Amino acid sequence: MSDTEIRDTETTAPETRVFEADVARLLHLMVHAVYSDRDVFLRELIANAADACEKLRYDSIADPALANGEAGRITIALDPDAHRLTVTDNGIGMTEADMIEALGTIARSGTRAFMDKLTAAKDGESPQLIGQFGVGFYSAFMVADTVEVTSRRAGTDLAHRWSSDGLGTYSIEQVPLDHAPAQGTCVVLHLKGDATQYTERAHVERVIRAQSGHVPMPIALIEKPDAETTEVTDGSALWTRPKSEISADEYADFYRSVAGQWDAPALTLHYRAEGKHEYNVLAFVPESRPFDLFDPDRSGRMKLYVRRVFITDEAELLPRYLRFVRGLVDSADLPLNMSREMIQQSPLLAAINKGVTNKVLSELDKLSANDADAYAAFWDTFGAVLKEGIYEDFGRRETLLGLARFHSTTGGDSWRSLKEYVGAMRDNQTAIYYATGTDRERLATSPQLEGFFARGIEVLLLTDPVDSFWAASGIDYDGKPFKSVTQGMADLGLIEPLDGSNQPAPAAPEAEGFIAFVKDRLGDAVSDVRASDRLTTSAACLVASEHGIDRQLERLLSANGQSPKGAKPVLELNPRHDLVSRLAALPDDADLKNDGAHLLFDEARIADGELPDDARAFADRLTRILGKALG
Ligand code: ADP
Ligand code: MG
Repeated sequence: MSDTEIRDTETTAPETRVFEADVARLLHLMVHAVYSDRDVFLRELIANAADACEKLRYDSIADPALANGEAGRITIALDPDAHRLTVTDNGIGMTEADMIEALGTIARSGTRAFMDKLTAAKDGESPQLIGQFGVGFYSAFMVADTVEVTSRRAGTDLAHRWSSDGLGTYSIEQVPLDHAPAQGTCVVLHLKGDATQYTERAHVERVIRAQSGHVPMPIALIEKPDAETTEVTDGSALWTRPKSEISADEYADFYRSVAGQWDAPALTLHYRAEGKHEYNVLAFVPESRPFDLFDPDRSGRMKLYVRRVFITDEAELLPRYLRFVRGLVDSADLPLNMSREMIQQSPLLAAINKGVTNKVLSELDKLSANDADAYAAFWDTFGAVLKEGIYEDFGRRETLLGLARFHSTTGGDSWRSLKEYVGAMRDNQTAIYYATGTDRERLATSPQLEGFFARGIEVLLLTDPVDSFWAASGIDYDGKPFKSVTQGMADLGLIEPLDGSNQPAPAAPEAEGFIAFVKDRLGDAVSDVRASDRLTTSAACLVASEHGIDRQLERLLSANGQSPKGAKPVLELNPRHDLVSRLAALPDDADLKNDGAHLLFDEARIADGELPDDARAFADRLTRILGKALG
């Protein structure tokens, strides 16, 4: 007797294990949520089967014996009497350890965030969520009471069966080889009583075509035990077909299957690069934003194929700031037998990255020129990500600044380009002014902007965290530097106010003495106190010191535990403000004058969205003053 035969007849007792806590919670949500569209489970199982076939195709490049000369295929078998649906593939398969790892845990970041979303999601949003977070396999429990996965890893002579009712535990046992696929995986769903449509040939066939029509393996259907096998899709690679023969619907279906998203592509790029390097590109800009777009671990999801063989979805085919683009590149030049690590370092990959990046940006540029509404929708969705490139991709900064759109004090709710901004600059205006913060409404009413309003100077209102970084990185557009309204002296003197008054109203003569007084009272809390020409209606505001960094950037850095040097702000007082001149007129030993000095400072902090320096002292002062006012 050979070893194999001994193992063949040997079976071990099923071993029961408990799901990782996150999986249990997820399963609970899957089973108890009411979905409007449960069909999504089939797409997920087919996607896994296709992934397994692609992995085997890749591994068998190095070890041709692995695939036994078989091409990848996926078979869906229905059994209406037994109430069963089975998905079988001849892909890479799973060992016992693979099963424990892949079907008992969720090895992904962002899962908790996902589950929170799922709990809060409205009916109908869930299928999208499931796809985006790649928790695909567990969706089988939406339609099945029990799921059994029997698998044999390519190149091994052991088979195992995983089974679970999705209620907290699963079991794994070894099974004889003749109870398992010769190679690959077989997933059996024992369907719930209300899921009978998944044993109806017509329904299942329609679902396969709609969701998985472009999976690059043929998919066959067996409508009942002993029935003939019929092919539903032929597994031809859409991207190798000529553009003129592909309909918008086919592209959209393909997008959904490659991206695992349920929206439609906002932009489709399909082209063949020829010349020095040859490759096919089929890439999509999605319509909606995935939830993990700003997850630090979220990287690009473009797939790399070499002559139709899937190689990896981890190659850097695009820069990080284009990580929302989905799709694939199929290279004719990369050698198939290169390791994934070597591919990553290949100059060819760098050339592809450069070519595809330029193409995506130029298509976006075209869209902005030809369809302003579509471009605005794109910008709403992905602008915040694209802007990271202004900071990261020095060589394409001009292009990216040209693509960028902004809200501003004159644009209302619509987006403004820098070209429009520069075209509307006032006489003598030499810089592009911006204000950064977290809330556009509050920014627009911040006292720092008063002088800009009075002069009709447009100010960009930047509210994405990344804005503080690129805007402060010393760049310019069309020769005009970017300048924060909170930074330094604002050079507003040279620009004429809109009301035609060349000279601002005279400052109160006592103001100078009062400024010195405030400075004395505030001591270390500020780096300076000075008269302002940016204020018109407010009495005070805070700005950064002359060489200090933008105030919002400073807040971001301190929130990250970095405290920038010399970060003390400058308090600017409006020497023409009634309150300032009346406080100035009080004797220096008046309590009210001292309280006024501190309250002006706290008021400026509050206008910036900060808290008073000393909350208790602030409350005491306010109480004192209110008490006086009430008599
Ligand atoms: P994802 O496909 O995004 O990784 P899934 O929940 O769909 O997440 O699947 C989890 C894992 O289970 C897969 O990554 C894979 O390792 C394994 N798996 C699932 N189905 C199969 C299959 N048919 N063949 C081989 N491995 C599979
Ligand atoms: Mg999957």
